[in-house]
Amino acid sequence: MTTHKASCQCGALVAEAVEAPDFVVACNCVACQKRTGSPFGAAAYFGKTVFNVTGEPKTWSRRAESGRKLENHFCETCGSTLYWTLEMRPDHVGVPIGNFDSDSPTPIRAIWMQEKHDWVSFPEDWPTYEKGSPS
Ligand SMILES: [Zn+2]
Ligand SMILES: [Zn+2]
Repeated sequence: MTTHKASCQCGALVAEAVEAPDFVVACNCVACQKRTGSPFGAAAYFGKTVFNVTGEPKTWSRRAESGRKLENHFCETCGSTLYWTLEMRPDHVGVPIGNFDSDSPTPIRAIWMQEKHDWVSFPEDWPTYEKGSPS
């Protein structure tokens, strides 16, 4: 049974997960800013085995600061990035929470605080990290 469904802006790409995300993170890094055009990105990470995509995404990859590869999978029609895969977390896929059609997951921590826009603030009870998530 699908618990979460996400789609690109035009609807050509659809992602579904049959289990809840393992973690949900707000990321202030410049790469997420560029990807979204927003001051930060927020994404839910699902186990690869519970995640399924319909449609034909294009792929663009970059190296994270760690040197490890990150691949963005996006719609060639509307340009939305629907999910990404990471060499650092090979068992997970990240899905931007803005792409969920309902029941958008809530982040539990914020990372890359050192690149955060000054006016952005997060709930006081969230753990925050200057760079990426520990481990
Ligand atoms: Zn699209
Ligand atoms: Zn980021």
